[in-house]
Amino acid sequence: MNFNNAVFEASYGLFSQLPETAQLEIAISGRSNVGKSSLINKLLNRKSLARVSSMPGKTATINFYRLSNNVRLVDLPGYGYAKVAKGEKQRWNELIGGYFEQGRNLVLVLQLIDMRHEPSKEDLNMIETLVENELPFIVVLTKSDKLNSTERKERLSGLAHEIPYAEQITMLPFSSVTGEGVQELRGIIEDVTSE
Ligand code: GDP
Repeated sequence: MNFNNAVFEASYGLFSQLPETAQLEIAISGRSNVGKSSLINKLLNRKSLARVSSMPGKTATINFYRLSNNVRLVDLPGYGYAKVAKGEKQRWNELIGGYFEQGRNLVLVLQLIDMRHEPSKEDLNMIETLVENELPFIVVLTKSDKLNSTERKERLSGLAHEIPYAEQITMLPFSSVTGEGVQELRGIIEDVTSE
């Protein structure tokens, strides 16, 4: 798969707008500011295909990127931004809940967690949702460049207890600054989308 040819396809703010498709989908989930846009840009070798925001909590939309004829990358709205109004949170819940329950052709979810911190309650809720719905997922540990080797070891052993079923989950350290994890992630995506 050529990751350099991805194009932005569409953006949806309401569950009812989501198109039914036959294409394979890889969804990316995580709290706002976790490094989701940076990961998408790094993965697709672009400077600013996905907007890297300095202001978290921008309007929640689901963004579709076309990776190939039959594969889409689906950027889910970041969660956990405290200042978001109640109505906006509800719209977010409907959008994400609807997406996961729609029976889409979801071949992989990348659940992003900031490698420096313990997973938040919302991160754990999201993992629970993925497990309950039997959706295939891996945990991508973002901003790995911000930890030294001692901190890195501490977080990896911490996560083994903090995340349920950790021993069964692939956890991939990733940095959009150093490029750690990029090739591995591309390989994983190729594996799940090859026929
Ligand atoms: P999003 O809200 O999840 O899309 O997060 P962004 O990609 O906009 O990143 C949020 C902030 O974290 C920005 O200031 C980024 O420059 C920074 N950031 C994202 N990924 C990394 C990373 O791998 N390493 C470092 N050091 N900073 C990062």
